[in-house]
Amino acid sequence: MAINELTLRRASELRSVVDDYVDASTRALTARWAQAWQEVAQEWQDTIAVILARKAAGEPLTPAQITQLARTQRALAMTATRLQELASEIGPLLEGSVREVVERTADLTTGVAVSQMPPVDSKLLPSFTRVDQAALEQIIERSLGQIHASSLPLADDAIDALKSSLIRAVPSGWGPAAAASEMLKRTRSSFNGGLTRAMRLARTEMLDAHRAANTAQNAANPSVTAVIWHAELSSRTCPSCLGKHGTEYPPDTPGPFDHQNGRCTFIPKTKSWADLGFPDIEEPPDITLSVDDWMQSNPQDAVAALGPDRYRMLQDGQITLPDLTKRVDNPDWRPSYQATSLADLRKVAKNL
Ligand SMILES: [Zn+2]
Repeated sequence: MAINELTLRRASELRSVVDDYVDASTRALTARWAQAWQEVAQEWQDTIAVILARKAAGEPLTPAQITQLARTQRALAMTATRLQELASEIGPLLEGSVREVVERTADLTTGVAVSQMPPVDSKLLPSFTRVDQAALEQIIERSLGQIHASSLPLADDAIDALKSSLIRAVPSGWGPAAAASEMLKRTRSSFNGGLTRAMRLARTEMLDAHRAANTAQNAANPSVTAVIWHAELSSRTCPSCLGKHGTEYPPDTPGPFDHQNGRCTFIPKTKSWADLGFPDIEEPPDITLSVDDWMQSNPQDAVAALGPDRYRMLQDGQITLPDLTKRVDNPDWRPSYQATSLADLRKVAKNL
């Protein structure tokens, strides 16, 4: 039962292990995109030079004519091929990391639970078994399937963006060198639009695979009686996560479903020492800091995190912590909890 220093440290270590895999994937994706851009950049430089030369020669190139130029068509075809290759590389590039994240989450999650056991001979403690490998494989498969499905449209979308950036006019007063550099910059940024999405995809899927493995492992440990929504309490924590911090759920609850890029975790809470069969060992209390106590002792951080209006409404008792967060369903993703708008909070306050 007692969540202690070691519990919190292990939970935060688990989280940094996952972050390391996410960061490594982000770097790998960025490197792939940079290399691919190198391969097509010269082609675009030449194409843009041709477009600008024709315009300078007095040819009134319409947007349609620009895209139909043989030179443009060639650059687009070459870029499309490269982007399709990139898109198809995303899945294989992330596979190893997804697998590691899931496996290591299963291992480290048990450590978080074990940290709460009473100080007795380990032979007297309940056994902690690792979640079924088949369950972990299923999580990995589902995650890789999602990555594959979401990677496919990346190339087409980037090509569409490239086409429209190409026909967007450069201010007429610009000289050819400035115009060429501006057009190349736009082309590159459309090309990299796919990278932004690939990075978001990697992050989202790896975190969700981590959460799924965490849930599966907690559900597989009979000594775990609940999971606690845990947010890092700081001046940068969002109101929604503050509304959720410390709330308790059954061990097999999927999640926590915080927002995109959310950093919350479920910390397993084990049976009380009495329920584990040690009624005579005095169990220390949970050290989980409640949001109320945190607000009391860190008013400046709390105002920064919540904004002055939410902070005041909470202090005045016009709203409660659960009012700060609401579930938002998303057809393309999972449901997530997001901050209730100030306008909605004011309605709650008024109806009091
Ligand atoms: Zn948040």
